[in-house]
Amino acid sequence: MIKNALIALLFISFVLPGRAESDVCKFTCLSLGTTVELTICLDGISSAAAKSAADESMARVKEIDKMLSVFDKKSAVSAINDDISKRTRSLNPDLYSLIKRCNEYYALTRGAFDITVEPLVEAWGFGPSQIRKSDPCAAAEALKYVGMDKMVFDDANKAVSFDDPRMRIDFGGIAKGYAVDEAVKILKRRGISSAIVNMGGDLYCMGSNTAAGGWSIGIRNPDDKKSIIAALLVKNKAVATSGSYENFYIYGGREYSHIINPRTGRVARNNLRSVTALADDCMTADALATAVFVLGERKGLELVEKLPGIDVFLVVKDGAGARISMSGGMEGYMAKR
Ligand code: AMP
Ligand code: MG
Repeated sequence: MIKNALIALLFISFVLPGRAESDVCKFTCLSLGTTVELTICLDGISSAAAKSAADESMARVKEIDKMLSVFDKKSAVSAINDDISKRTRSLNPDLYSLIKRCNEYYALTRGAFDITVEPLVEAWGFGPSQIRKSDPCAAAEALKYVGMDKMVFDDANKAVSFDDPRMRIDFGGIAKGYAVDEAVKILKRRGISSAIVNMGGDLYCMGSNTAAGGWSIGIRNPDDKKSIIAALLVKNKAVATSGSYENFYIYGGREYSHIINPRTGRVARNNLRSVTALADDCMTADALATAVFVLGERKGLELVEKLPGIDVFLVVKDGAGARISMSGGMEGYMAKR
């Protein structure tokens, strides 16, 4: 059953034992470069109330896309990036607190997660110019002005400034997670107790279905996108996946993927194929999935084992095949298959 559902949805298995299809409403839209999918169980709410909550959530997601997209010249982030003076600028409170949270992940991961990675993302061919070509010289130069430690924060005025005018920021590593959390807040406020908010595999499982005690989530096999490598049972938790297979190109016979090690300036290359992180909120799961992908298996697990409420499931290259590696608490989420 899980497998069939995943072939359709690729990431979520959304078959609810004991629940009729009429008990569930599903809403989709395109935003943040992916399909935004809200699956809402009609537990004590009408389908009209579910639709109204979904509409408000989708509107909020589109607002976030407008604020955070580096591909949109009119976004708040582009306004920061394109200001060549990089003078101190007051930000809207949402954006300021988002950047401050990113700074916490930067500290927590000792720089493995870093939103100032944008010039490196561009140098390796994944930025707005979309030129799929590696430029190691540009990357070596850009490394001089990457690092959130080169940003200055003014909490009183909710303002930021940068040590180097060439600095640029990129929220690609957390935008979906943040948007999932914002949508979940709206659904909760509207009295919805059971739903999945899914943005291209970064998702939050609200409540539970009737029988299984959680939502069944499949982890995609990075080497065979039509199959799943494991199934999780998740309740009131967020799940986010980062993988080299998600966005990459081959150049000169080598694979270049979109996740960059901000400390070396190079594309993150290690033995990982994918990292699936579980956390209480999706922005944390999203940031940690990206960071653990940069850190690699050993350092990534070392970090996660110190963080309460966070677990990871790793697909690790092993010769021509792959093996699975997990943090200590992950076993508790594995679904019986
Ligand atoms: P994700 O799919 O969540 O791992 O995010 C990957 C995206 O985040 C990339 O496409 C870049 O836009 C950005 N990114 C790449 N490397 C990093 C990093 N080390 N820290 C933060 N963001 C990154
Ligand atoms: Mg991420």
